[in-house]
Amino acid sequence: MIKGLIYDNEKEKYYIRDLEVSITNLCNLVCDQCGFFVPNQIIPYSEDPIKEITEGIGILKDLGIYIHRFPVLGGEPTIDKKLLERAVKSFRTVNNFDILEIVTNGLIPQGLTLNSLKLIDELTISLYFESDELISLWKEWLKKKAPNVKFNIRIHNWDYQHGDYIVSDLKAQEMYENCWYRKHCTTIERKRIFICSRIAKCGDDKEGLYLNNTLTLEDIQDFLNSEIYFPSCKRCIPLMGFGKIRPGMQPNNGLFLLIDKAIKYLKENLNKDGA
Ligand code: SF4
Ligand code: SF4
Repeated sequence: MIKGLIYDNEKEKYYIRDLEVSITNLCNLVCDQCGFFVPNQIIPYSEDPIKEITEGIGILKDLGIYIHRFPVLGGEPTIDKKLLERAVKSFRTVNNFDILEIVTNGLIPQGLTLNSLKLIDELTISLYFESDELISLWKEWLKKKAPNVKFNIRIHNWDYQHGDYIVSDLKAQEMYENCWYRKHCTTIERKRIFICSRIAKCGDDKEGLYLNNTLTLEDIQDFLNSEIYFPSCKRCIPLMGFGKIRPGMQPNNGLFLLIDKAIKYLKENLNKDGA
């Protein structure tokens, strides 16, 4: 059985493999079958994403729980450069993770300031555009501005996300037991921890665990290592096996303009001080 909370015997500590967070629901793209339901992604916070996420990982830290990979997402996290700066700065005050990563569609380089870059470990582009020139510029720009940051490119086909189907209890349990998302998409939204971002993005808040200072390690353990599926699993389209689709397909030609704009920015900015 996949476990959301793991005990590392060597390091003698509990950890979550990947805990991803959304700091905004805004995005500059409208990808077909967006797993975060953009442009209708529900707001991932109650009042202040940065304060809530920082407090959330702080509560985990106080319980002795570390995070291996901590990806910062949106929407598109670079859409508001000041928000992103504030986010990584605040998350570093807790610092209970091995890898602080920003995951972006790579089309708003102007949203990544030196202040953000100097605090992260990895930058990952989920690749939805076709432009060797833009990829080369990203590599060159990052090497120059932030050699401390590891650059990754992620390309993989997507599961279908949208639809209105329901499976039997038996099938839901089988889907839950074999769920890839449960390994890689634990999240915190609206002051709750969720076993996967799918449940959070569907707004099923009653299936999240409200994070507060009265929680114990056992509470988190019981929640993240539950052997029984969650009610949302019965309606989980990505696990229903409807095949794969090409990632990041757009309804218009807007991508070309964004590629040109990103190339122009990176070229102009390459030899300037700062980012
Ligand atoms: S880039 Fe595409 S997949 Fe990512 S949040 Fe925006 S619309 Fe969704
Ligand atoms: S809702 Fe889907 S993605 Fe989430 S745990 Fe259940 S099967 Fe996995």
